[in-house]
Order: sequence, then C-alpha cells, then structure tokens
Amino acid sequence: MTNENKAEQNGFATLGITGALLKAANAAGFTDPKPIQAQAIPPQLEGRDIFGIAQTGSGKTAAFALPILSKIIGLGTKRRPKTARALILAPTRELAVQIEDTIKLLAKGAHISTALVLGGVSRYSQVKKIAPGVDILIATPGRLTDLVREGDLILADTKWLVLDEGDRMLDMGFINDVKRIAKATAPDRQTALFSATLPNEIAELAKGLLKDPVRIEVAPQSTTAAEIVQSVVLARTKQKRQVLSKMLADEAMRSVIVFSRTKHGADRVTKDLARDGFNAAVIHGNKSQNARQKALNDFRDGSVRILVATDIAARGIDVPGISHVVNFDLPDEAESYVHRIGRTGRNGRDGIAITLCDPSENGKLRQVERIIRMRLPVIADHLGSPDPQRDPKETTERHFEPANDREHHGGRRDGRRPGNGNNGKKRFGGKPTGERTFSGKPGDRPAVAKPNGERKPDGAKRFRGNSKRRFGGKRPANRAA
Ligand code: AMP
Repeated sequence: MTNENKAEQNGFATLGITGALLKAANAAGFTDPKPIQAQAIPPQLEGRDIFGIAQTGSGKTAAFALPILSKIIGLGTKRRPKTARALILAPTRELAVQIEDTIKLLAKGAHISTALVLGGVSRYSQVKKIAPGVDILIATPGRLTDLVREGDLILADTKWLVLDEGDRMLDMGFINDVKRIAKATAPDRQTALFSATLPNEIAELAKGLLKDPVRIEVAPQSTTAAEIVQSVVLARTKQKRQVLSKMLADEAMRSVIVFSRTKHGADRVTKDLARDGFNAAVIHGNKSQNARQKALNDFRDGSVRILVATDIAARGIDVPGISHVVNFDLPDEAESYVHRIGRTGRNGRDGIAITLCDPSENGKLRQVERIIRMRLPVIADHLGSPDPQRDPKETTERHFEPANDREHHGGRRDGRRPGNGNNGKKRFGGKPTGERTFSGKPGDRPAVAKPNGERKPDGAKRFRGNSKRRFGGKRPANRAA
C-alpha cells in the first residue's frame, strides 16, 4: 500500500484532516483518533469553541492542534511583526515543551513556525524568535504577561486561543493572568479550554471566554482499565531515607517518581539516594529550564529510573510506563495527592502508589483519604522500630523548610482556595494491598491495617500565596513556571 493510500485510510481523514497534516499524523503513528480527537476536531474545523474536560494523556494536544494547524496552513506566511496567530497557554514549562513537540511532529512538512515563551530561560532568544511574528506560540502565563507588558508581543492578531489544564492554572494562581491575556487577543477568536476537573471557577471562566462551546467530556484513563494500588508505610521522618532506599532496592520498581513537598526536600532526597547508591534525577522550580528538561529526558528514555520531583514541576508530565509513585511526604493540599499518583497507571497500565507517613502527617493523610473517599491500607509500620538516628526533641519535619521553599501550587498566588476536592472521587480503584509487596507483586508482605483512631491529626497549616498582576504591574519574585 502506498503512503497516500495509507493516509486516506487514516481515521483522521474522516474527521476532516487532509493533505500534509494527514500524512504527518500518519507518520507519527496517529492513525486511530482518540475519543477526544473524534469529538473535538470536527466542531473546531467548523469554527466552534470547545470546552473539554480531559486530562493529559487523553490525546487532547492533537485534538486542539490539528484543527488550528489545518486552518493556519491555508493562510500563507504573511504575519505582522511581534504577533502570534495562535496562542496556547499551559501551566508549566514542561507541558509547554511537550505541546510544542507534538505540534512540530504534526506540522512536519507544513511550513508552520512555532515559538515557546517560558519563564526560567533567556528572554532575549524568545523575543528574537517572535519578532517577525509566529504561527503558533506556546507559553506559560507568567513570562507571556511580561512580554506583552513590555511591548515585545502583540496579541491583537491572535485568532486561536487554547487554555490547557485550566484547573492547574487556577491552582497556581494564574487565573487573572489568563483572563487578561484572553482579553488582549482578537475579539473574534476561536477558543478551546481544557481542564481535568471542573471547579466552579473553571465553569465561570468558560462562561466568560467561550462562545456557545461544544462541551466534551472524556473519562480519565484510570476509570477504564488502569488501576492504581495505593498504600501507606508508617515511618518517622528520620527513617524515611532508609525505608525509601530499601524499597528502591527492589528492581520491580523500574520507573519511579518520588514526590517531595519542598524543593529543598527534593534536593536532600536526591543526595541521600546518591549516597545510598541510587542515581536519581531531580526536577523542581529552582532548577534551570535546561536542567529540568534534561532530568525529564533522562527519566523518559530510561537512563535514570528514579525521578525526584516537587508537585509543581511534575504537573502535566506524561511519561509513559511509570511503575511507582512514592510520596516521600504528604502534600500540603490533599488534591495534589491525586495529581501525584496519576503519574502512574497511565494508558491502561496498572500502577503502584506508596505514601510514607510520619505521625506528624496524620492530619494530611486524613484529608487525602477524605477526598479519595477510601481508607488507605498500611502495608508496613516502622514506628515501633528502634531509630538510633532520631533526635528525641524532634516531633515534626517542618524544621527542614526554609522560607519560600514550597512550590507554588501549594500556595496559590491569588490567595484563593484550590479546586473542588472531588478530583479523586471515582478515578482510582483501590485494591486491598494485603497480598502485595512494595513492588506490587503478590506475595510476602502482609498488610497491617491500623484502626483510624491511631492517627492523630497534626493541625497541618496551609500556605497561601497572594498575587495581583496586570500587564502594567510588577512581577512576583518567586515563580515556578
Ligand atoms: P496528550 O494527552 O495530548 O499529551 O497525548 C498523550 C499521548 O498519546 C502522547 O504521547 C501522544 O503522542 C499520544 N497520542 C495522541 N493521540 C494519539 C493517536 N490518535 N494515536 C496514537 N497516539 C496518540
């Protein structure tokens, strides 16, 4: 069969994708449209706005990129300087890079210019790239706001706007930036908003920004085949390093993300792992963009099997085949737990999520259990073990935390509360773990379920950020994305 014939048989042809785009989709292995693509592409080709409830991993990038590319291809190369025909906003740099990669793949051979506008890397090269005007600009809201404010970017010609992971932008306090950016784009633009969850603020944002949208809801992968087996290991903060290293000695843990609540904590865990003989990459908001991307690439291509991450840096990351998520500590916001464990169990594969819990974190654990609506089984209890390293005066782990060490999403810049708290409601199946080891294999380590009453709440405090920015305003000093 010739390539032409193959392309004609491609399911994307029936959705209205033609020519070079169809060939590129075919070459990229995109032959059968995913449900979100089948539902979102035809109405967008007709010019309709889209409100999509879908997660990263659902195929939403191609769902919004193919129609935009298809419309831009016909327009030729004439663009005004400093403008972008289409703007895609993403909450994190990593997601933005991922989106550009997919767009480049799909636009192969179609003379489309793309540019990235992200915090944490040189502004000069970004300004230079957009100076002649670009077809598709992919940006995080913070740096984009800076460029608009300084007159390096004009949004008046932007006729396609995509807001990706709206709920995460909300969690990170970007919502006002997003509204201002949308307002600066062409009034007759076509807009697509995607969000994994639907808190009230996102419903309101949709009302304000979308015109008579087609609403599309795609079930997350994990409600279908994948299952994430979740459990808790009770260990004092000082014991966690040893417990983690023992766990990681099990080679069945072949691809592991270890989450740390703070940037400093992530660095410390990485160093401790190195001392214990484990090579781990680390990713957090204080790392340069190049270091973050290298860590992610090394983890993705399997050169390192352990990635230590803070919540914010790991958001939106779609690395296939992560076998385990280990929560070295509990997140400040219970909703983050759901995002963390969702890094495994993707594309229909099972995953294991293990949370190390110090007695001082019991309150946070309770909050997690409340939102996921299940009691997490305890598969190991080290609290009774002798701990020669332990300082008897130490009762909590908070002393590790220098000022400004927490990543942003635990402390929204706009000072409001995060999403609806229903994130975990139906998504994750929880099997009793009595017959599983750390690696998730049936066998030798029975679960030790503890009655609820044994965990004492610790009165966990929440960090709240604050930010009010306009195009004319001042930028906050500490921004993760
Ligand atoms: P996304 O949700 O856009 O990040 O996509 C998740 C993953 O699915 C990415 O690795 C895509 O390359 C892949 N993907 C998206 N659409 C298709 C398709 N129709 N066929 C095969 N792979 C796809």
